[in-house]
Amino acid sequence: MSTITPRIAIIGAGPGGLMLASILHHNDIPCTIYERDSSAVARSQGGSLDIHGYSGQQALKAAGLLGKFRATMRIGGQAMKMMNKDGTVLFEGDGERKEETREDIRDQEDEEATSKFIKGRPEIDRSALKDLLISSLSAKTIHWGKKVTSVLPVPDSKQWRIELDDGSHPAPFDLVVGADGGWSRTRALLTDQQPFYSGVTFLDIWVHKVDEVAPNVSAFVGLGSCFLWGKDRALFFQRNGQGNEADARCYACVKTGSKTAPSAHTLLGEQDTEVEIDWANARAREKYVERHFGDWYPEVKRILLSMTDEPVLRHMYMLPVGLTWESRPGVTLVGDAAHLMTPFAGVGVNVALMDALELAQGIIGCVRTGSTDGESLAVMLQQYEKGMFARSGKEAAKTEAAMHLQFQEDSAERMKKIIGKGLQPHELVFE
Ligand SMILES: Cc1cc2nc3c(=O)[nH]c(=O)nc-3n(C[C@H](O)[C@H](O)[C@H](O)COP(=O)(O)OP(=O)(O)OC[C@H]3O[C@@H](n4cnc5c(N)ncnc54)[C@H](O)[C@@H]3O)c2cc1C
Repeated sequence: MSTITPRIAIIGAGPGGLMLASILHHNDIPCTIYERDSSAVARSQGGSLDIHGYSGQQALKAAGLLGKFRATMRIGGQAMKMMNKDGTVLFEGDGERKEETREDIRDQEDEEATSKFIKGRPEIDRSALKDLLISSLSAKTIHWGKKVTSVLPVPDSKQWRIELDDGSHPAPFDLVVGADGGWSRTRALLTDQQPFYSGVTFLDIWVHKVDEVAPNVSAFVGLGSCFLWGKDRALFFQRNGQGNEADARCYACVKTGSKTAPSAHTLLGEQDTEVEIDWANARAREKYVERHFGDWYPEVKRILLSMTDEPVLRHMYMLPVGLTWESRPGVTLVGDAAHLMTPFAGVGVNVALMDALELAQGIIGCVRTGSTDGESLAVMLQQYEKGMFARSGKEAAKTEAAMHLQFQEDSAERMKKIIGKGLQPHELVFE
C-alpha cells in the first residue's frame, strides 16, 4: 500500500466537514479543517436532528462511531404527535425505543461489531453530534477561528491555495473540500448558483430548562416532536437535550409565497422602517402569533407565547433542485454547500453525512491504490460528484414536495397518512 497521501483541506466544521474528517482519520488519512467559529460552542448550535439508518448512520459506522451514537441519541426522541390547528390529535406515537433504558443502550456500545442500525428516526442534538465527531479527531485537525476568504488555483499546478482572514495562507493543498454550508464561498469555484428564498419564513423560539420553567410546554411537546398544520401555516415543536437541562423549541412557520424574503415589519403587517423588530419584546411575538395563528386553538397559542428564549426570524433558502456543475480537479463540495434544502423532509444533515462517506471512500480508495496524482484525484471527484448529484437531487425533490404538502388545507390529514404507514424515512413519498 502506498503511503502517499494528498494534502486535504476541509472548509467548515459543520456535520458534513467533521464527518469527512472523522472517516479519513479513522483510516489514518490526515486532513485539516478551517472553521470560522472560534470554538464548537461559539454560537447556539440549533436543534435536534434525526439520523437515518440508510444514510447518516452508515457514515457514523464508517467512522467507527455507531456505538457512541447509540449511547448519545435521545431516548424517546422519536415520539411524535400530529395535530390539526383546531387541536384535534390525529396521530400519536411513542417511537421505537421507549422500552429501552439508557443503561441498556450503553451496554450495547461494545456491540458495535454487531453494527445494528437503529430503525426509524433516532434523534440527536446537533451539538451532541458535533461533539461526537470532534472528539473522534486529533486536536490539531481543526483550526478554529480561521475564516477562509478565498481559494485560488496555484499557477502551473493542480494545487489550490487557501487564504485566511488573518492574512496567512497555509502551504497549497491537493484537494479542497467546501463544507462551508448554504452560503458557501467555495461553491463559486464550481457554479454561479446562489440560494433563493423558498417562500417560507419562521420564528424560531426556545424555552430553556423546559421541565422546570414551563411544565405546560414540556407536557405538550412530550419527549420528541409535536407538529400542527393549517393552510399556509405550521407549528413544529421539538424537545432538545436531556434530563433537567432539556429545552423545547418551536418553529412557527409562515408560507409567505413571496419571491423574496419579506421584512419583519411586513410579516407583522407594519410599514417598513429602519428600526429593527426586537423579537425579545413580548409585544412583537404576540403580534406575530395573532396575525398568523389568530384562528388556531387558544391553548397552542398560550404554549407558543410562553416560549420566550432566543427568538430569531429565519427565512428558509434553498438551491435549485438537481443542481449540478462541471467537475474541476482538486475542488469539490459536501453538504449544504452543494445542495441546500429546506428542513421540511428532515434529510439535509443525512445527505451531508452521506456525501462525506462517499467522498471519503473515494479518497481512501486513491490512497490505498497509490493513485494520488492530480489526474487520479480528478477522476475520483468526477465519480463522487456523479453519485452525489443523483442522490442529493432525489432528496432535494422530496424535500420540495414535502414543503408544498405541509402548507395545504388538509396537510395534517395527509401527513398522518404518510407517517402513519410506519415506513422508514427513505420510503416516505410526499404527494
Ligand atoms: C431550522 C433547521 C432545521 C433543520 N432540521 C434538520 C433535521 O431535522 N434533519 C436533517 O437531516 N437536517 C436538518 N436541517 C438541515 C441541516 O441542518 C443541514 O443540512 C446541515 O447542517 C448541513 O451541514 P453542513 O456541514 O453541510 O453545513 P453547516 O452545518 O452549515 O456547516 C457549515 C460550517 O462551515 C463554516 N463556514 C462557513 N463559511 C466558512 C468560511 N468561509 N471559512 C471557514 N468556515 C466557514 C460555518 O461556520 C459552519 O460551521 C435543518 C436545517 C435548519 C435550518
